[in-house]
Amino acid sequence: MCGIFGITGHPEASNLAYLGLHALQHRGQESAGIVASDGEHLRSHRSMGLVADIFTAPVLEKLPGEASIGHVRYSTAGVSQLKNAQPLSVEYAGGQLAIAHNGNLVNAPELRKALEADGAIFQSDSDTEVIIHFIARSKQPTFENKVVEALSKVKGAYSLLFLTQNQLVAVRDPYGFRPLVLGRLRNAYVLASETTALDLIEAEYIRELEPGEMVVIDEKGLRTSQPFAPTRLGRCIFEHVYFAKPDSVLFGTSVYETRKELGRQLAREQPAPGADLVIAVPDSGVPAAIGFSQASGIPYDVGLIRSHYVGRTFIEPQQSIRHFGVKLKLSAVRQVLKGKRVVVVDDSIVRGTTSRKIVKMLKAAGAVEVHLRISSPPTSWPCYYGIDTPSRQELIASNHTTEEIARYVTADTLGYLSLEGLGKAVGDTERNTFCTACFSGKYLAGQVSPEVAAQSAKDSAQSGAVAAEVAVATGPETVPGKHLTA
Ligand code: AMP
Repeated sequence: MCGIFGITGHPEASNLAYLGLHALQHRGQESAGIVASDGEHLRSHRSMGLVADIFTAPVLEKLPGEASIGHVRYSTAGVSQLKNAQPLSVEYAGGQLAIAHNGNLVNAPELRKALEADGAIFQSDSDTEVIIHFIARSKQPTFENKVVEALSKVKGAYSLLFLTQNQLVAVRDPYGFRPLVLGRLRNAYVLASETTALDLIEAEYIRELEPGEMVVIDEKGLRTSQPFAPTRLGRCIFEHVYFAKPDSVLFGTSVYETRKELGRQLAREQPAPGADLVIAVPDSGVPAAIGFSQASGIPYDVGLIRSHYVGRTFIEPQQSIRHFGVKLKLSAVRQVLKGKRVVVVDDSIVRGTTSRKIVKMLKAAGAVEVHLRISSPPTSWPCYYGIDTPSRQELIASNHTTEEIARYVTADTLGYLSLEGLGKAVGDTERNTFCTACFSGKYLAGQVSPEVAAQSAKDSAQSGAVAAEVAVATGPETVPGKHLTA
């Protein structure tokens, strides 16, 4: 869970990276960093915390140059520590190099082990660092070729930005798991995880990078290539459900419109007849709640207020803090809820902690019935491609029925969107251009390391889930636990 931003050909590259990262802050709040190049040297500043707190004017002044890359991080691989903050920067035989990564490399643990056995020393726990080692070891003649060789060894999800003294290189993995867009600001080229970052700096959106595409920008201009064999697409459906910012255009579609459509579809599949009003769990549930209201005819109102002075509850690393966090984050509006039969719409249930607190909060504020509607299917499988999800054991839907979850969260009724409905809402009825592994358990072929598969099988065994419960994927997809149990 990270956001990346890059710009080249602008005298205020670091200031713009700061703004771009600010727009991408929702993608990661643990740490942030910017590396800038003045053509001769790379200079870096990374710190734990939020973009606006880290990058004060004096800090940005120390990052001169016309090119920069930046990163906001929430850890999905490696612990939350400064040494894992990105961009990672190094000096190697080819010069100075910085790298910013969104995604997760599923074979990084074994690649790292092999590199370490060969004498490599790592400066972080991050999966990204293996790429640097492969680049440094490559005998290829150009930097671009070194990058291609390095990336041919890794598996998994990567949207990457590389900065050298005189080149900015962007690459997206062939599955297209994570987004990456290209824009233009007068003479400068801009790259960002989401279009919302382009909008903030008033850059013009050119297009999304193609899955498997590499873009190189240097004094010769911009050139593009497709160095990796095309494969089935695996764009992350959870970006549309929860992660991306609603004003972004993601995988070619408006996130806001998609979320509203998720809500409409949800209302058709899981109606709540007789309810008085529809409310959202802010902020991520708002567009879907509006869609639910439109399709059902039940009026939309604001029954929960979100405090903007705390981070997302899930971001807190410890369960005890997360419990407390829900109360810090949301408060109920009694005047709206009192005596009402309420439909409350959220985007997902992970552990069930948030929903349980919210239902209790709504009832305490006077709601007589609470009908919980979720604008995605049950989250039953961990993500290995860059979204932070807990193990199967902790995912409430992996070992409980919908009725059991409804009882746990104390909702009068609970309804999830179906996988088919989700596919329809994102415009992919066959669901063969998206990765839906968190909902379906169908992981993309070759994308799960034996270690990850072993862990997943262990989690499944511990949670009582048997492989037989898992829909066996056909074609290019496969189920990780299945390898071991079959
Ligand atoms: P939980 O309390 O564990 O069920 O978390 C559910 C809440 O977390 C929902 O309100 C979601 O909007 C939000 N959420 C879902 N997935 C994530 C994620 N990967 N990171 C942060 N928040 C999430």
